Amino acid sequence: MEAGKGNGSRALVGFLKGLPGALRLDVPLCSLTTFRIGGPAWMVFAPATQAALIEAVKRARSLGIPWRILGKGSNVLFPDQGFPGLIISTACLRECRSDGELVVAEAGVPLAKLSRLGFSFLAGIPGTVGGGLVTNAGTKFGQIGDQVEWVEVLLPSGEVARWDMEGCGFSYRDSRLRRLGIPVLRAGLRPKAGPDPAEVLAKRRASQPLDWPSAGCVFRNPREAPAGWLIDRAGLKGARQGGAMVSPRHANFIVNTGQARACDVLALVDRIRARVVKIFNVWLELELEVVTV
Ligand SMILES: Cc1cc2nc3c(=O)[nH]c(=O)nc-3n(C[C@H](O)[C@H](O)[C@H](O)COP(=O)(O)OP(=O)(O)OC[C@H]3O[C@@H](n4cnc5c(N)ncnc54)[C@H](O)[C@@H]3O)c2cc1C
Repeated sequence: MEAGKGNGSRALVGFLKGLPGALRLDVPLCSLTTFRIGGPAWMVFAPATQAALIEAVKRARSLGIPWRILGKGSNVLFPDQGFPGLIISTACLRECRSDGELVVAEAGVPLAKLSRLGFSFLAGIPGTVGGGLVTNAGTKFGQIGDQVEWVEVLLPSGEVARWDMEGCGFSYRDSRLRRLGIPVLRAGLRPKAGPDPAEVLAKRRASQPLDWPSAGCVFRNPREAPAGWLIDRAGLKGARQGGAMVSPRHANFIVNTGQARACDVLALVDRIRARVVKIFNVWLELELEVVTV
């Protein structure tokens, strides 16, 4: 079956029957990602409860239907062909409360909300708690993994487990959660004193191209120098491929100038890597997650 033609989704849709939440068919992924890029997903389900998310994953697993959890879609590039399966959106899982010294937040709680509850170092990062934990989101002021008391995850066995910080295996913009593809349900996080969020936001506005769709930094910073500096010095600011462009303001951002396709972004990534390796002998690793199906 071909993605996006509606045939796959209509044949499969019955398997989510009875689960509370919103189900949509043939949804353009460009409408669910900050890059505004990506073809249609067969199904997008936003479970109303954690139990519904767990059940949707179990059913997809048992039927062998490709599935993936999506938060704000601010760190992903989906293919132009779309996603032939089920996207589970955490948009409705937004419960957030204090529990003693901890903030307990469901996977879909925006990081913007968390930034106002004692996590100001996350101000301006346009993701969710789930996506933030998986990518160990952060800034020079801190990273979310360092504030973890526990994270509730859905194991491949179908059981819910509580992992501590060590179990989550956080490292620079990475985690064991990501490497294992484990669904994050909620987390207990310890607030910490941080910078003034208004100042952080003002600095971001001054240095990042926030007026264009993007997925934030494309490459991880290598040991040698910040990726943006290397790309700038390689003369690539403003370089274009189709509708994708290396931001003239921040060279580690690729922006969608209107009609960019995933293949434009990937071609630009290849060009950047080739030029940077030729000039500096440094291979840039992706921070952006390129989804393959
Ligand atoms: C303008 C801009 C600025 C940015 N600045 C920063 C920054 O300063 N620092 C930084 O670290 N990042 C930054 N980012 C990148 C991005 O916002 C973060 O990586 C963010 O944490 C991703 O969260 P998300 O909810 O959008 O995740 P998504 O993009 O939706 O998903 C990312 C990955 O996590 C998985 N995932 C999402 N939710 C769950 C869940 N509940 N359970 C299991 N897996 C899940 C997805 O399958 C995917 O593999 C920026 C992005 C943009 C667009």
